[in-house]
Amino acid sequence: MTTLLLTNIGELTTHDPDAGGPLRDAALVVERGAVAWTGPARQAPAADTSYDVGGRAVVPGFVDSHSHLMFAGDRAEEFAARMTGTPYSAGGIRTTVAATRAATDEQLAANLTRLTEEMRRQGTTTVEVKSGYGLTVRDEARALAIARQVTAETTFLGAHVVPPEYADDPGGYVDLVTGPMLEACAPYARWVDAFCETGAFDADQARAVLRAGEAKGLRGRLHANQLGPGPGVQLACELGLTAVDHCTYLSAEDVDALATTGTTATLLPGVEFSTRSPYPDARALLDAGVQVALASDCNPGSCYTSSMPLCIALAVREMRMSPAEALAAATLGGARALGRDDVGHLRVGAAADLVVLDAPSYLHLAYRPGVPLVREVLVAGRPVT
Ligand SMILES: [Zn+2]
Repeated sequence: MTTLLLTNIGELTTHDPDAGGPLRDAALVVERGAVAWTGPARQAPAADTSYDVGGRAVVPGFVDSHSHLMFAGDRAEEFAARMTGTPYSAGGIRTTVAATRAATDEQLAANLTRLTEEMRRQGTTTVEVKSGYGLTVRDEARALAIARQVTAETTFLGAHVVPPEYADDPGGYVDLVTGPMLEACAPYARWVDAFCETGAFDADQARAVLRAGEAKGLRGRLHANQLGPGPGVQLACELGLTAVDHCTYLSAEDVDALATTGTTATLLPGVEFSTRSPYPDARALLDAGVQVALASDCNPGSCYTSSMPLCIALAVREMRMSPAEALAAATLGGARALGRDDVGHLRVGAAADLVVLDAPSYLHLAYRPGVPLVREVLVAGRPVT
């Protein structure tokens, strides 16, 4: 058994509530891939190997709890059109569905690998990946089987949008999703999700999908209240889901329900940035005591960034979260949104998934937007960049 000592850490964020904030002049010991000790560098125990991080800041690896990486093609032209006046609508998803169905397994796997490596270089150490651009039994199941190769956090999103061949029979499509498609996908998925929005699925359809998934042992999460007010957040709270994502248009009752049930509200500010839309009211959520996560929503349509540091900068600049709140939401919050307590923090016992920043403090993540501050990434105590 070998141990690794990270020392000369200028600022160490562990998210230990008893620590009262980041530790200065700190050290961290990794044993068996997990955090075994944290504290002042001068008190650090001996270890087999030692790594001097040169006074830099260390933060937990980012937990990106919402991404759509199983796709082919891109929609750069649609983005350009949107930036010159065409509004975003859920229907653009169909463009990616056609490209994804036409792609080979190898092409889908290569695109997934490219994007997860891109995320990792930017400090993401846990990522959730959804299906939802196949929308046939075969294409949804193969997407999840491929995604399962790179992450345990796979989500069945057959209920992303009604595909063109079911345009006249959306009920028939829900029957497919809750029947044969779920049957084929459940072995490769941990989560079930639905896009509860005008133009996608209504509350009754989303409820049917979530209940069917839960009956197969999957845990529910939901896309809701992104493009306008709607019933999705209330449905997520009623069903006691782990997380409900987007939450851009919320009523006071929605905020109350989130605070009462403890369902995590995942905010995806890259979407509002990329679609030039109003941001969610993060302050109202935080001030009401709602658990908040930040995630990328990386997808080829509404938000093609894979950068959690960008999401942190947007959360601080555009949603008035404090830098500490934004970092916590991008790490601990993401872990809560995935029902995980082994990642998103660096308390003793956590996975040694961490980021060495080329900066003296995590504050620089928001203070220096667009600058590549991730110097090194460790997963289970091993360098991966
Ligand atoms: Zn999404």
